[in-house]
Amino acid sequence: MTEQTAPHSPISAEQFAEQIRQELEYSQGVRPEQATAADVYVATSLAVRKQLMDSWMRTQQDIVQGKTKAVGYLSAEFLMGKQLRNALLSAGLTDQFEQAVTQLGFDIQAVIDAEVEPGLGNGGLGRLAACYIDSMASLAVPAFGYGIQYRYGIFKQEFDAQGRQVERPDYWLDNEEPWGHVDYNRSQRVSFGGKVVEENGHKVWKPAWSVRAVPVDYLVPGYASGRVNTLRLWSAKSYDEFDLLTFNNSQYLDAVRPQVKAENISKILYPEDSTPQGKSLRLEQQYFFVSASIHDAIRVFYPGQDQPDLTSFPDKICFQLNDTHPVIGIPELMRVLIDEYGYDWNAAWSITTRTFNYTCHTLLPEALEVWPAKLIGELLPRHLQIIQQIDRHFLAELEGKVADPQQIERMRIISTGEDPQVRMAYLATVAGEHVNGVAELHSQLLKDVTLHDFSLVYPGKFTNVTNGVTPRRFIKLANPRLSALITEGLGTDRWLSDLSLLEGLRPLAQDDGFVGRFAQVKRDNKADFAAFAKREYGFDLNPDTMFDSMVKRLHEYKRQSLKILAVIADYADIKSGRVSADDLLPRTVLFGAKAAPGYRMAKLTIQLINNVARVVNTDPEVKGRLSVHFAPNYNIRMAQHLIPATELDEQISQAGKEASGTGNMKFAFNGALTVGTLDGANVEIRQRVGAENFFLFGMTVEEVDALYAKGYQPESYYQADPRLKAAIDMVADGSFSDGDCGTYAALVDDWLHKDYFMTLADFTAYNQIQSDIEALYRQPLEWSRKALLNVASSGFFSSDRAIGDYLERIWKTGSMD
Ligand SMILES: *Cc1c(COP(=O)(O)O)cnc(C)c1O
Repeated sequence: MTEQTAPHSPISAEQFAEQIRQELEYSQGVRPEQATAADVYVATSLAVRKQLMDSWMRTQQDIVQGKTKAVGYLSAEFLMGKQLRNALLSAGLTDQFEQAVTQLGFDIQAVIDAEVEPGLGNGGLGRLAACYIDSMASLAVPAFGYGIQYRYGIFKQEFDAQGRQVERPDYWLDNEEPWGHVDYNRSQRVSFGGKVVEENGHKVWKPAWSVRAVPVDYLVPGYASGRVNTLRLWSAKSYDEFDLLTFNNSQYLDAVRPQVKAENISKILYPEDSTPQGKSLRLEQQYFFVSASIHDAIRVFYPGQDQPDLTSFPDKICFQLNDTHPVIGIPELMRVLIDEYGYDWNAAWSITTRTFNYTCHTLLPEALEVWPAKLIGELLPRHLQIIQQIDRHFLAELEGKVADPQQIERMRIISTGEDPQVRMAYLATVAGEHVNGVAELHSQLLKDVTLHDFSLVYPGKFTNVTNGVTPRRFIKLANPRLSALITEGLGTDRWLSDLSLLEGLRPLAQDDGFVGRFAQVKRDNKADFAAFAKREYGFDLNPDTMFDSMVKRLHEYKRQSLKILAVIADYADIKSGRVSADDLLPRTVLFGAKAAPGYRMAKLTIQLINNVARVVNTDPEVKGRLSVHFAPNYNIRMAQHLIPATELDEQISQAGKEASGTGNMKFAFNGALTVGTLDGANVEIRQRVGAENFFLFGMTVEEVDALYAKGYQPESYYQADPRLKAAIDMVADGSFSDGDCGTYAALVDDWLHKDYFMTLADFTAYNQIQSDIEALYRQPLEWSRKALLNVASSGFFSSDRAIGDYLERIWKTGSMD
């Protein structure tokens, strides 16, 4: 008997079908006979939302009245993925939904496909925020996600005839969006510009303009917790009435100018910041959402109070700063406490420094965000004064603690010199109660390198929380076959609330029958993905080849170049007759990656991969042995389809550059073996799944540092490895550009003469590990056994565990139940 603990609503399929019909008729005004799949999607979503509403209201009430401190997760990105199936899962309505939709005469998949994925994030950082609010709700932690409802999310990626990336705007909000509730009655005023004057000995900010921050509330249902938290995304609206007189004079653009300026703030995710206007807009966005969120928290926890006692604020809520984007919240809370509520500096500082914690997501010192003091002074003059004062106090503190004046100079929150810069990571480190990295290795490197000076002064602030991902979306929803097999193997479905239970699968790795069924799950998922890829992209994938995937943002440090050079080297072997195609392990190499629109090298790499795919896939000599596919527009939906079908996962960044990675965790959950470097969370994945179940290659952080120190000369690696030379020569000689040797010249030149991330230095090792990979793959049972051991050993990487660590090490709070 299998123990079932999954949520299951008492509502019957007939009742649910009736609720959908009611929504169709009374919310949307559509007769069921006339409804389209998109109508049914909206109706179903509204019906599920209603089912969750009682829990939401009860949770909100308990958050305000309860004794447990809440968490405010401040993040510029929330990469949620589609909502419907996740909401159905939490509401326990999945079966009823499927029956009801069928009864209504609709195709289940068509209804699910009608939902447009909100692309309110870039990649890992935004997905982490989404996983964390899922886990907080599932652990009954009172929490709010706070961010921005961008009108246009991350661009939609297409490829042109030359294989180059084309960015198209993502019009996600042009469809009916049943999940976000726009709450005009809870809006906040956010002001900008102007000047600071002295009145009665007080500093008074006289802003020049204001916008209205309107919250759009999304329900965040917990899995099997009965709790529903809130994701509150702010949308910018104008206060200025538009000018009817001007409008009547047909000067339409002038008339709407105030609206356009205000609404621009929440228009797009990461506006181009190479111009001063673009830079200013980003800072406006950051301030916009944190200012609104701080005022919102005061409204929620001190309802109707004109003079609340905000010394209790840190006992009501603590804010987690997801990277530096929300760090302007620190001077904002100081300003609110001092200017709006009359606290003195020390009282305000005491409250503020107990309220904020900071998660650092990078290692590259040059990637730490800075703002010109001049820009802050123009946009937020009062905040600049407060930051200057924090810097002065900090300097005084350092003078008592640090002997070396150079160290003190290095640590200044505001750099000195011509064009002083405010270093947001330093501000967060000084004012935050805790600072954490996102994997063991990353947290260590933060202390040793990136924030070394600070770790000497504040050793107690630094801690680690290794990232995690939610098993609800990335196992249960993405991989129903594997989920059913796990439940059967463990005799319970409780693993979805406690992923450490996956350990119980370990003994089954010795049971060939079970391993065979596990292999069949992968085989079926591959066939599903092949059908999906045919439908979506027109790809012809052969499920009898190894599915080898590299999906993540395109960045030089992640080293998609290394993978494509290895593919080209295999191809070159065959073309030159050194290797017979029959000896090649049949492989399907899958890529997915968006490049930042202004990132030239990344975009050129995309073009190269697409053209390698074009040449290889049409060459009869390698047919059936090697194929390469680049699926456009990598997003959560694609991840949910591709990851369960993948057998080999590429995590091949230069050691010391990937803070953690979370893609690596999703793949391990789904029974892919990883080929990877000792970077980010790969290190911990390998420790847990066992070195014998992980394909390790490449230089370590120490070796990388030593090579930089010695003077790295990529060309010597090109000369030393004939396969590497053959691959690069093929790129240079126009084999993937119809004979044009100029197309990839910038890439080739970079590889040979710069190669900052040492792709060439790791190439030989990467190739050598391929023979281990191929040898194991030729023993399917042994491969599957190791893959199953990966699943059994990766429970640690649940975001529930990560949130448990945050509760214990940083937030010092817990479940409300
Ligand atoms: C998990 C995920 C990422 C992060 O991938 P990494 O390999 O950790 O960089 C990025 N984008 C999407 C759509 C994801 O699901």
